[in-house]
Amino acid sequence: MKLPPHLTIRNGHLHVGGHDCVSLSEKYGTPLYVTSEDRICDHFRAYQQALSSRYPNVQVLFAAKANGNLAVMRALAQLGAGADVFSGGELALAREAGMPAKKLLFNGSSKTKSDLALAVQHGVKVSVDSLDELHQLDAVAREAKKVAEISFRVNPALEVPTHPKIATGLATSKFGIPHGQIPAAYKEALSCKHVRPVGIHCHIGSQILDVEPFARAAKVMVRIAQELAGMGVKLEFLDLGGGLGVPYHHDTDPAPTPEDYANAVMPVFLAGIKAAGITPELWVEPGRYLVADSTVILTRVNSTKTAHKRFANVDAGFNLLIRPAMYDAYHEVIVANRADAPLTTEYTVTGPICETGDILAADRKLPELAAGDLIAVLDAGAYGYAMSSQYNGRPRCPEVLVHGNETALMRRGETLADLTSTMVHPPWQR
Ligand code: PLP
Repeated sequence: MKLPPHLTIRNGHLHVGGHDCVSLSEKYGTPLYVTSEDRICDHFRAYQQALSSRYPNVQVLFAAKANGNLAVMRALAQLGAGADVFSGGELALAREAGMPAKKLLFNGSSKTKSDLALAVQHGVKVSVDSLDELHQLDAVAREAKKVAEISFRVNPALEVPTHPKIATGLATSKFGIPHGQIPAAYKEALSCKHVRPVGIHCHIGSQILDVEPFARAAKVMVRIAQELAGMGVKLEFLDLGGGLGVPYHHDTDPAPTPEDYANAVMPVFLAGIKAAGITPELWVEPGRYLVADSTVILTRVNSTKTAHKRFANVDAGFNLLIRPAMYDAYHEVIVANRADAPLTTEYTVTGPICETGDILAADRKLPELAAGDLIAVLDAGAYGYAMSSQYNGRPRCPEVLVHGNETALMRRGETLADLTSTMVHPPWQR
């Protein structure tokens, strides 16, 4: 199987960023998330470079929902990243990671008044999802005696080749304001005293392996920019969202790069803003592309079983990686302690959760397995730990970060005490 350069096999062991997975599993236990900081930084630089070599005024925002670990966000902040945040919690994480408020965009289709107040208090721009929200934000900003800078989330009504649950710019999806209504929404915003409309924003979906839909979205966005310019509005930023996919099937999926993305999108963007007579900042919001392949989950085989087929029962399940169960997602698996052994036997790798759907990898050719073997689930850095849970009374596992010659915990494992730490005794049970 093709491996990215930070994953190597030496002496039969899988290594992440030069660190032996077998040693890491012995030091930190399993299950274990292992993330290469250097890989994330390389991806960020490539994204930044692909766009800024074609247009000088670019801001790359990391989609914090993909991986909310502070260490990951801090590494990106140090390279100049901002963040797309979807909650007060993500806003707080981004600020703590050192991202300045002016590099954040507060997104979301259902914000509370306290979300809006937090954005106003921090001076974070808000991507407004409805006229109702616009007027609520105007009132919140008036109360705080401030003016909130906003963009509108545009629904561009575009079909994209991805799983329907992560297509976000369909005419039928819950996100944004239909593109035809944006000029009217802008007019409405211009009449609000405590709101200043400065941008437009879209995000068409996630795990998109063809760059052409991004060019189509850019076309819709620059058309709106031109219409707004005709109304005398000069946009200060245009945010094209995230969505660039990664090759989860290492040997067969296309692997579009930020260069491919820029080649498709930038001609449309550049011609469009020229026609509109504006020079806005170009914002993008990649999540998955920056972090997905940086991370493996190491999980120990508890037992094997031959029933109608062969099962390997491991200690990580959809409590730690819900993508296969939720999106039928595919993740490559490697036997990390015998990574060069011949692939002789078909296994279905199942987790410990009491659900039939708790399958991490179905029908994969692996070496003959035994209890104690160590399996690495690849490409788990995006929407992995971030979507984890304590389901079935399972404390979440630790996360380790590797960087150069060093390894360190970036999140401790939860304990049994963590399972009950937020629970309170109703008084009648005392
Ligand atoms: N921006 C917005 C508004 C999103 O909703 C998402 C993900 O759903 C992203 C960016 C990041 O998408 P991806 O991780 O596919 O790059």
